[in-house]
Amino acid sequence: MDKCLNELIKISRRVGRNPLLAQGASGNTSVKTDDGKFMFIKASGTALADMSKNKGWRRINLEKARGIIKDKKFAGMAGQKREAQIAKRLVGCCEDRTKGNCRPSIEANLHVLLDKYVIHIHPIAVGAFLNAKNGKAELEKLLANEKFPPLWIPYANPGYSLAKKIINLTGKYQKKYRRLPEILFLEKHGLFVSAANSVDALQLVSKVIKKCSSKLTCPTVKQIKKPNAEEIKNVKLIIRHAFPTEAVHFFYNKNLAAYLQKNLTGELLKAGALNPNEIIYLKGHIVWAESKKQIAKSPKPSIAFLIKNLGLFVIGSDKAASIARQVVEASLFMRYNGRKFGGIVALTNSEQNFIRNCGA
Ligand SMILES: [Zn+2]
Repeated sequence: MDKCLNELIKISRRVGRNPLLAQGASGNTSVKTDDGKFMFIKASGTALADMSKNKGWRRINLEKARGIIKDKKFAGMAGQKREAQIAKRLVGCCEDRTKGNCRPSIEANLHVLLDKYVIHIHPIAVGAFLNAKNGKAELEKLLANEKFPPLWIPYANPGYSLAKKIINLTGKYQKKYRRLPEILFLEKHGLFVSAANSVDALQLVSKVIKKCSSKLTCPTVKQIKKPNAEEIKNVKLIIRHAFPTEAVHFFYNKNLAAYLQKNLTGELLKAGALNPNEIIYLKGHIVWAESKKQIAKSPKPSIAFLIKNLGLFVIGSDKAASIARQVVEASLFMRYNGRKFGGIVALTNSEQNFIRNCGA
């Protein structure tokens, strides 16, 4: 097996098995081959932790892939059509023997712009800054001693617009510092790190997480009150009735209890979905309900309901519900901390609609 691919599998599993870094199938990693001709990148829809010798990645022809965003025909095209065509073009850049129709991550267009090893994840410790009014300034303070400063990327719709923005900003960065940025913070989205080898790439992740975490806290509870079983049953019935569905799952743990018992949840959830991940895995906003009556009035589609004095209810398969729980817990943490940095910044309605209509 290619040595680079082996390294890619190692780093993907390492970051992918930690839900505080990447939830569900989110996040992606890549490596460019020594001859500079190809890039191995995580396949779309599979979890980083599941990457192996035989699956979870695609091999892309770098020259062909770098030409996609430069293609002028995409500039005037409507979002949905454009993103579908770009995804198709990326599949056309694949040169490997992978069976089936898994496509390379759509974020491949960003990976081609950076150094040999690239790790893109959605760490909750970084999200607390990426979704806060003063997040950029706080991150700059935290990393003020870096020889080469991190690059902040203001929010752009995933896909073509984001790639265009990163081309522009990395170009300016290269002119100023005569090198590519190692750390990129994507507002309301996630973290990119890029390095010449896998050890340095992983170290960059650890450094950023450690620095960010030093400023963050989360509420705790000593004991959790057991929710009423009859009430749980009732709420499940109400959700099933209001949102015709097969399965409603219930979650309650120390982490969720810490927010619910401190009566913080309603306030934290006033801001809408924080990032593309929440639209993908939660289908939109997390619903907060103080009474059973409020559930039926919830906006549709909703799949995650935090109910006062009870816990979290999620609609969907076992797997989807367990990812949704991770995303809800991540969201609460980011919101709780984001408040301290000038207030929570969420996606606008048009940003949310773009992800619903064009994917991410
Ligand atoms: Zn992402």
